[in-house]
Amino acid sequence: MTSMLASRHVSQAIRRNVVSLPARLHSTSAVNRATEDHEPKFLQAVGMFFDEAAKHSNATAETLKHIKSTDSVLSVTFPMEKDGKTVMIRGYRSQHSRHRLPCKGGIRFASEVDLQEVEALSALMTYKCAVVDVPFGGGKGGIMINPKDWTESELERITRRFTLELCQKNFIGPGVDVPAPDVGTGPREMGWIADTYRNFNPQDVNGAACVTGKALSLGGVRGRTEATGLGVYYGIREFLSFPEVQKKINHHGQVQDSSVIIQGFGNVGYWAAKFFEANGARVTGIVEYDAAVYSEKGLNIEHLSQWRKEHGTFRGFPDAKVIDSPMDLLEAECDVLIPAALERQIGLRNAHKIRAKMIGEAANGPVTPGADAVLRQNGKLIVPDLLLNAGGVCVSYFEWAKNLSHLRFGRMNKRWDERSKEQLLNLVEGNAGRPLSEVERRQMIHGAEEHELVYSGLEDTMIVACNETRQTANAKNIDYRTAAMANSINKIAASLAGSGSIFTHA
Ligand code: NAD
Repeated sequence: MTSMLASRHVSQAIRRNVVSLPARLHSTSAVNRATEDHEPKFLQAVGMFFDEAAKHSNATAETLKHIKSTDSVLSVTFPMEKDGKTVMIRGYRSQHSRHRLPCKGGIRFASEVDLQEVEALSALMTYKCAVVDVPFGGGKGGIMINPKDWTESELERITRRFTLELCQKNFIGPGVDVPAPDVGTGPREMGWIADTYRNFNPQDVNGAACVTGKALSLGGVRGRTEATGLGVYYGIREFLSFPEVQKKINHHGQVQDSSVIIQGFGNVGYWAAKFFEANGARVTGIVEYDAAVYSEKGLNIEHLSQWRKEHGTFRGFPDAKVIDSPMDLLEAECDVLIPAALERQIGLRNAHKIRAKMIGEAANGPVTPGADAVLRQNGKLIVPDLLLNAGGVCVSYFEWAKNLSHLRFGRMNKRWDERSKEQLLNLVEGNAGRPLSEVERRQMIHGAEEHELVYSGLEDTMIVACNETRQTANAKNIDYRTAAMANSINKIAASLAGSGSIFTHA
């Protein structure tokens, strides 16, 4: 086993090493079909978006340098046994910024994981947390495995071993760095992480807060599973309601009757599809890596999900047209296209073919900088990842706060609220001279449950962040990505000012 703990300086050296490695193979055919070879890698792309936004921020050049660079990275390699052979497993954790602690960001299991990807994702997490005023720095982790190649017990051993590495190197802890689910991971893996951390730190009374996205029985919060998809829905709904957006893309402004195509039917894509369907949109297409489905009248999301669970693919799904070359469906006409799979799905090869009016980036980094420019030139409206998919980290923040308080949201005040409202209602009824029906009465006095508080907090967060982004975009006449990132840079710069972590010249 080798392991490496790197400070900011060492991180730069590591990056030099990574650059000297053979170019990463973008194994999915989707990426090959979307991007040109000369397009920047993910980390460079995030840096390019940052540089553009920096021009519209108030931060000094010194502060910008500090914000842009990655604080620390951890790279570990450990052996696992598979079919009688030893396989070396590579994993990473990147802490992009510790201007606020803990660092926060998912852990993904995917065969394409590499250090530059994890660093890019951790940088996006820094900007994302600032956009939605979640008081965390940015982190991200990844293990370079295809989870489909491993049994459940092997995955458990890999997850626990990786967590042990994080514990030993102080890359995990409620006040240090808090992972969450991402591609290829979910509540099951988060449970293994929490348990391993607790075994390593039995004295830590706040141990449950070392990871978010846990099952409810392990200290999770209601609403976390669907949070990112729900946030995507709230964000798109908000942008559609802006008159300038309606004018730009010639849209009626309602989710109801809008057509939506979604790429990726995992956690984020599935839940986004559910919320759009439930609110009257027609989800006309879903794109997976092996096949896509299309129905002009709108797909039944639950039927589709059941079919995929039973058959492992969309192929053969009876209620829609099945498309064998799935990437074609990204180019179909629709009001909103939602990439919710992986990065670099819209590049210079397919950007000019996109016919959607609006692109809602549910995935991290789905549009390359070159494609971003082409789409905007073609009058498309892009709602950027650092804003649109922030619902996950927002509700992770609620889960973390719940774990630290050791108290379920609503437990202290639900009955008190109900009694106060009941007294008020009695007064109103007396004055109005008309008693309310039992149903009306129950609806009005109902005290909020945990999931209702979480939904409400998430909705408010998304609405505020969308409007802050809109204001900056309108005031400076810039696109929404640049505006969201400029706002984020200003907030981080403000928190760094006077912190002592930046050298100032007298
Ligand atoms: P997931 O693993 O649950 O789902 C990803 C889905 O995309 C899978 O169904 C997979 O088969 C599919 N997919 C993979 N390659 C594809 C391709 N080339 N074309 C079409 N489909 C493909 O992952 P997730 O948690 O839903 O994450 C999806 C994206 O959202 C990622 O970019 C992730 O970083 C981002 N994100 C996730 C969260 C979260 O809370 N889970 C939060 C913010 C951002």
